Amino acid sequence: MSSRYERLKRLDHAYVWHPFTQMQDWMADEPCIIESGEGHYLVDINGKRYLDGVSSLWCNVHGHRKRELDEAIKAQVDKIAHSTFLGLSHPPGIELAEKLISIAPEGLKRVFYSDDGATAVEAALKIAVQYWQLDGETKRTRIASLGEAYHGDTVGSMSVGYAETFHRFHRDLLFPVLRLNPPHVFRYYEGMREADALKHAIDEAEKKLAGEKDALAALIVEPLIQGAAGMWAHPVEYLRALREICRRNRILFIADEVATGFGRTGRMFACEHAGVTPDILCVAKGITGGYLPLAATLATEEIFSAFLGEYKEFKSFFHGHTYTGNPLGCAAGLASLKVFESQKILERMQPKIEYLRERLAKKFLPLDHVTDTRQWGLMVGIELAEDKQTRRSYPVEKRIGHKVILEARRRGVIIRPLGDVVILMPPLAIGDDELKTLLDVVCESIKAVTER
Ligand SMILES: *Cc1c(COP(=O)(O)O)cnc(C)c1O
Repeated sequence: MSSRYERLKRLDHAYVWHPFTQMQDWMADEPCIIESGEGHYLVDINGKRYLDGVSSLWCNVHGHRKRELDEAIKAQVDKIAHSTFLGLSHPPGIELAEKLISIAPEGLKRVFYSDDGATAVEAALKIAVQYWQLDGETKRTRIASLGEAYHGDTVGSMSVGYAETFHRFHRDLLFPVLRLNPPHVFRYYEGMREADALKHAIDEAEKKLAGEKDALAALIVEPLIQGAAGMWAHPVEYLRALREICRRNRILFIADEVATGFGRTGRMFACEHAGVTPDILCVAKGITGGYLPLAATLATEEIFSAFLGEYKEFKSFFHGHTYTGNPLGCAAGLASLKVFESQKILERMQPKIEYLRERLAKKFLPLDHVTDTRQWGLMVGIELAEDKQTRRSYPVEKRIGHKVILEARRRGVIIRPLGDVVILMPPLAIGDDELKTLLDVVCESIKAVTER
């Protein structure tokens, strides 16, 4: 190890507090310090290369140091790095908004920028609640969401996405939410056939949502796959049914496509698979190709126009952040969407999605400790359990998921688990050979840990 590495490690251990990290373990360990990137690889400061198997936390699309994106950002830096969107505008912010509306599900007409997935969700919730206040249905102030949903870590997004492990200390800060059980056969509908679970989940949604319709402003959903829950997939019929129930009961339908947006599921947006248009759409992670923090909340014209009026009526959406619509982020976003077109990213993903599906069924599912594999596009969860038949989990202290990622790292692949669910989220542009390497290494790593 170089002296530079030793110095940075000492400083990291002395000064940095890492997110979602038990710092006691971290400080007892050798940190992996990434210095650069190259295509679908990350390079640490000792020169070791790793395949980026989770797209730098689910956001990278075209790889690292993608020429078109780098050049777009450099060109924007030569003009201006930041100017506010409050009371002023700028070309990349305007052009990206037009572009987003042109690719978003039909019916969405306005773009409200922010900086992260959580802030896109906060804006969506506040827009929904204010909409009903402005529209005169002032009792519609509650939000509904799915069990084990994840929508971010700010207080509002935590409220709609409550997860015991993450949020138990902050329960008193959270507002109450109407919770629906998604058709997850291993958790809520144990032992049921998937078709029966689907029917039960739809019936339950119908009853709960219709029962509280006069109090509900909106339902927020991660369409098709609940990422941070552990890649819980649901069929398009569930999404369609929720959309329809909301329409009938005049409840706004918010799609949180922070993880699924920008091609992750094989279509530009997950909602397209089900042919549904939400009233409000939240996007972040992939919007800049995974380069810079930028997010957007898209709304229909009907919602937008409810906020119009004389200044003195104070109907404005009084909400925003200092860096809202940052020009560098917007420039990266525009360049990323151009690459989607010029390099036919969505088309070229399709065989990779099929290959993944086949390998999951043939190589992973037969393993002794793999109880389930779930996939939508290039979004995958591989669930490990101590006992495959009864699905008895490993004891938490065994940290099986964590051990698997350490094995993978030794073999030159970076992944990050969710508990004992191994997550694969490669950049959309990953090469065929690289994808094969990713799967081979992860398979070997799972075997090495679980068959030990
Ligand atoms: C990651 C994620 C968020 C939060 O996004 P941040 O940018 O981390 O704040 C919200 N919703 C979903 C579905 C996510 O996957």
